[in-house]
Amino acid sequence: PRPRPTVRVRPLTGTETRRGDQQVVHSLGDGAVHVSAARHDATFGFSAVFDAGASQEAVFEGSGMRQLVELAVDGFSCTVFAFGQTGSGKTYTLMGPLAQSGSQPASPALLGLMQRSFTCLLEQSRSRGSDLALSASYLEIYNEQIRDLLSPGPPCALPLRWSKTRGFYVENQLSVEFESLESIVSLLLQGSQRRRTSAHALNRHSAGLHPLTWVLQASACPSKQGTLCFVDLAGSERVKETGSRHCISLLAKPRGKRTHIPYRDSKLTRLLARSLGGSGITLMVACISPSSRCLSETLSTLHYASRARRVTTRP
Ligand code: ADP
Ligand code: MG
Repeated sequence: PRPRPTVRVRPLTGTETRRGDQQVVHSLGDGAVHVSAARHDATFGFSAVFDAGASQEAVFEGSGMRQLVELAVDGFSCTVFAFGQTGSGKTYTLMGPLAQSGSQPASPALLGLMQRSFTCLLEQSRSRGSDLALSASYLEIYNEQIRDLLSPGPPCALPLRWSKTRGFYVENQLSVEFESLESIVSLLLQGSQRRRTSAHALNRHSAGLHPLTWVLQASACPSKQGTLCFVDLAGSERVKETGSRHCISLLAKPRGKRTHIPYRDSKLTRLLARSLGGSGITLMVACISPSSRCLSETLSTLHYASRARRVTTRP
């Protein structure tokens, strides 16, 4: 199966339970999500919905992530977008609960889509032999400034350039080759610790932040270089300020109608030009909280996701 828009409902957090938040989102099975609250009663249909009890592995296997990795190895530009409001589980879904020190989260069962994809990439690379070289880079866009999370030393903004052969690219971006899961996971951890948010445990500091990770696969034939890019979009409640609205709207458009991409509008859309354009393949993971306090953002996330669904299921 091709990757398809996926909805993930996280469990109520301890804080939400303690303060008595109502659970207003329920998965009805068969891809149906039901939202019920005082003035709202709506059911949305998707091809894949993961509820609070779904494991990280179930999300990896059920979202089509494995197929996306294979497409990247075959030379396609593939992108995974996690979107949803702050605190909805985007980072958890992509990376799992990252350990602060050491190189692994508490339990391998909690590894996110990224670590699982890395494992899958390495397997592919081994089975295809030496014509597959893997390298990774890790960037964040914060208030329209691009920072390289892998370069040591004090953070500085990197310029975004355009060339005929490469399209948009970040000048002086560090790209690190890797051959083992340990090395790529340790790059991910190092980079994540340099994120703007890492110093503060609080999510509200993450407004305007888009961490991106590219895993590049260079094959023997340069024209067949595939990419796999993970995007942890800034909280959807902040989309107006950050340009991620453009990305989400574009993703919700029929592929053939994505003629105008508003590259000028944000660095994010320029950087993701290849993924958002005609030949890119994207997997969108819409993350939602089940709490009554998040109702309006949950509804808007589900509306976006169901628009995108109509698109991707086209033959
Ligand atoms: P976001 O990145 O969207 O702001 P996070 O991924 O940081 O949200 O998740 C917010 C909180 O909810 C974190 O404490 C995280 O561990 C927890 N959480 C998110 N998704 C799940 C899940 N599926 N199962 C258990 N806890 C989760
Ligand atoms: Mg996050």
